[in-house]
Formats: sequence, C-alpha cells, structure tokens
Amino acid sequence: MAPHIPADLPDRIRHYIDGEFTDSVDGDTFDVLDPVSNETYVTAAAGKKADVDLAVAAARRAFTEGPWPRMLPRERSRILHRIADIVESRDARLAELESFDSGLPITQALGQARRAAENFRFFADLIVAQTDDAFKVPGRQLNYVNRKPIGVAGLITPWNTPFMLESWKLGPALATGNTVVLKPAEFTPLSASLWAGIFEEAGLPKGVFNLVNGLGEDAGDALVKHPDVPLISFTGESSTGQLIFANAAPYLKGLSMELGGKSPAIVFADADLEAAIDATIFGVFSLNGERCTAGSRILVERSIYDEFVERYAAQASRVIVGDPHDPKTEVGALVHPEHFAKVMSYIEIGKSEGRLVAGGGRPEGFPTGNFVQPTVFADVAPDARIFQEEIFGPVVAITPFDDWEDALALANDTKYGLAAYLWTNDLRGAHNFAQSLEAGMVWLNSNNVRDLRTPFGGVKASGLGHEGGYRSIDFYTDQQAVHITLAYEPHNPTFGKGDA
Ligand code: NAD
Repeated sequence: MAPHIPADLPDRIRHYIDGEFTDSVDGDTFDVLDPVSNETYVTAAAGKKADVDLAVAAARRAFTEGPWPRMLPRERSRILHRIADIVESRDARLAELESFDSGLPITQALGQARRAAENFRFFADLIVAQTDDAFKVPGRQLNYVNRKPIGVAGLITPWNTPFMLESWKLGPALATGNTVVLKPAEFTPLSASLWAGIFEEAGLPKGVFNLVNGLGEDAGDALVKHPDVPLISFTGESSTGQLIFANAAPYLKGLSMELGGKSPAIVFADADLEAAIDATIFGVFSLNGERCTAGSRILVERSIYDEFVERYAAQASRVIVGDPHDPKTEVGALVHPEHFAKVMSYIEIGKSEGRLVAGGGRPEGFPTGNFVQPTVFADVAPDARIFQEEIFGPVVAITPFDDWEDALALANDTKYGLAAYLWTNDLRGAHNFAQSLEAGMVWLNSNNVRDLRTPFGGVKASGLGHEGGYRSIDFYTDQQAVHITLAYEPHNPTFGKGDA
C-alpha cells in the first residue's frame, strides 16, 4: 500500500534553538521512515552533546535574563491559551502529519491533537487559580510559600502519541515559568518541530522553548547529564527510565518517570459483559495497542470465561486494520519496522504459550508496512512471557480466575503497576479490590478516560512520581517557605547574654 503523503512536508527536520531552526553542529542526520511504506521520507538532525549544550545555554539565558519566569501567571496564561487556540485551529493538519509519521489512525490522531490543546488550556487556567496557603499565627508570625520555577526543564518523550505527550510536559513546565529543552523520540520527530511555529505565533519569548532531535543515547543522554538542567521529565520504557535514574543521580536532579505497563483488566461474572467486552477491546487495540495504559492482560472469572473468550475473539476479528489515513481505520500501522518485528516475535512466542483465538500475524492484503492483526491469546499462564512482558502492540492475553483472591494475585503478579480496569457490579467489592491493586490508576466499569485534575502515574516498574493537575505544578516548581515574625520574641531572652 502506498502511504497518503501530506502536502508541504518539510525537506528536513531540524533542531530549534534560541528561536532559530538549526542543523546539528557536526551536520549528522538520521532517517525518518513512514510506517506504511517503511521508506525514508525525510532526514532529521541528529543532535549530540554540542547541540544539547547550545540548547541548554539558550534556555538558561532565557531563564536568567528573559521575561518568561518573571511574567505574572496571568500573562503566561494568556500565551498558553493562545497556544491552545492555535493547536485547535490546526487540529486536522496536526492529525494528518501525526498519523503519517506514527501510523496512528487519523481519527484517533485527531482526538490526540485536541487533547494536546486541552492540556495547554488546563494549565493556563490552573496557573492563575494556583494559590499557596499562608499560615498565620495571629499577631506573631506569617509563613508563606513562594513557588518558583526551577530553571531549564529537560523533557524526553516517546513515539506513541508524541504530540499529545509532549503537550503534557510542555503545558505545566511553561505555565510555571520554566524554560525547556525537548528531546522527542527519534521514530516520530515530525510533529515536535511544529511546536516551534505555534509558540512563535502565540508570542512565547525566544529561547524559552528549545528542541533537539536525535538518538536517546546521544541527545537524550547529554540532556540527562547536563549540569544546568535541574529536572528531567521522562516518558518511555522502564529500562530507559532506570538508566536515566542512574545517570541523573550524581546531579540529584528532580525526576518524573512515566514508564511501561502490563495492565490487567479484571472481569467478574456479575459485570455488564457487553460494556466490558467493548471497553477492553478498545482499551488494548486503539492507538494500535501502542498505549502505556493498555489493558493487555484480561482476567476473566471462570464461570463466564468461555463465553467471554468467544465473544471477545469474534469482536477483535472485526476490528478494522487499514490505511492510517482512512477515517474507517481502527488499527493503523505500527510505528517502525523494528517495533513491528518485536511485536511479531511476541506473537510467535504467544503461539506456544497460549491458545490463539484471533489474529496472529499480518492481515491479508497488507504484504508490506507494519500492519498487525488484532491478536488474542486465551488460556495464558501467569508465568508466560506474553503475560509478563510489555508488548506495546495490538496483542492481548486472556487468563481465567476463580475468585476475588485469585484475581487479585494474578492482577498484581507483574513488575509493572500503571493501570488496572475492573468490571463488576459489586460496588463495595470493587472499592476494596481497587485499594489492594498495585496500580497507580484504577478504572471501575469505565473506559480509559481521565479528568485532567487527577494524578497520572504508576507504581513499581511503571514510574516514579505523578503528573497531572497540581502534581505537575509541584514537580515544575520549587516551594520556598518564607517566615516573618510580626512581633519579635527571642527564643530565650538570656541566650548569649551571659558573663564572658
Ligand atoms: P524509549 O525508552 O525507548 O524512548 C523514550 C525516549 O527516551 C526517546 O526520546 C528516546 O530517544 C529517549 N532515550 C532513549 N535512551 C535514552 C538515554 N540513555 N538517555 C536519555 N534518553 C534516552 O521508549 P519508547 O519506545 O519511545 O516508548 C514506548 C515506552 O514508553 C513504552 O514502554 C510505554 O509503556 C512507555 N510509555 C509510558 C507512558 C506513561 O505515561 N507511563 C506513556 C507513554 C509511553
């Protein structure tokens, strides 16, 4: 299949440093492929330490000398709202480019572009609503908290829904008055470079936003190890998170880590089966299964297990795989041939670990490109690799359980702890169960929807810290306590006044 090629693609993707698009200092580039043809459609500047040094220096100058950290929150808020307006007004174009670059179905890419605008709007509002308590001891003392931007924030992002995930970090980092260096994922650098134009148009001062493209081990590593970058917000694989944690340790940097997942969806016999099947199909196959919170392990109570598996497999087989640009497509092309090979190898492993009941390879009619059938394995044992390891594609493992205890043990039997989904009509049971789940987020009888005020984050190998709402404001600010004594009273009136 030939990809839909958007009009007016850039002839190359460059860094954006101190308000200028630039090539790498050493002139190096890397190839960017479209996931439908796997042909190189553009080259991108391959940033290294020298480029990161320039970007951090620009961000540092903008932080120490520029207006951005010194503006009133409502002035920054106005610019953030303008950014949201521009993103919204270009949602169709953003979705077209994102879908082309990442293989996401166009309708889902459109939803992600709109969510990116919402992220900016949310933090634009939150930063003006933000107040810190002043604690007064009447007549004697006033204590208050100064919230200060920290400095240059290093933002390192993955290739799944790249534009939206970048907005998630850019929104709060900028709202709180920091300056930033963004290092987007090398598989999908196209949409990140659009921020530069959007920010310029919205009136963001020069040097506040800087972008360095490149490989993780070069540009990402240099950002993590740069002494003038006091905080790193990272989203990506758990193993990369561990490496970044170790590399940032000598500098004692502030770290926010949103990492991998292998989230359980637990379906009890008393659940609304129709809704549970619908939501668990969407939860693992939308966004091509390249979703950190995908419910990729489905645990089903034994009394409804056979019916569930049969209905689930039938519905999974009807999910439409196709051209990412076609609005009817529900699963597009996986992001990159390397990732495609990884997902296909898990499918082969799964064939000896479970009972294949849907999918299992390339869909017919798609001899090239990174297309994978929505694939369902039933009767998967808890020690199977496809039960334990994050596949990050349209592949799901289903396992039966006998009772609440068994379900809980299976749900928690993983190194990850990002999300969990629970389907039951036993209200009391559900809340008790949620408390015992080792997961940062639990959805009860619901789709994966999230109010932006709530925390987002995982436990165990799924992350460190939370983003979202005031948690993001906390992460991107120093909280300096100031104490004023209104009426001075010495602790001890005789202290230091004794005889010499
Ligand atoms: P990845 O860890 O390979 O890469 C993420 C980013 O880190 C990229 O920009 C990469 O260039 C950079 N990087 C790689 N090595 C680095 C190093 N040594 N130092 C600094 N930076 C480095 O992850 P990916 O494959 O791009 O993304 C998929 C993963 O992200 C999955 O595990 C998924 O679950 C996870 N994810 C988590 C969340 C969440 O919120 N918890 C959200 C989306 C994705």
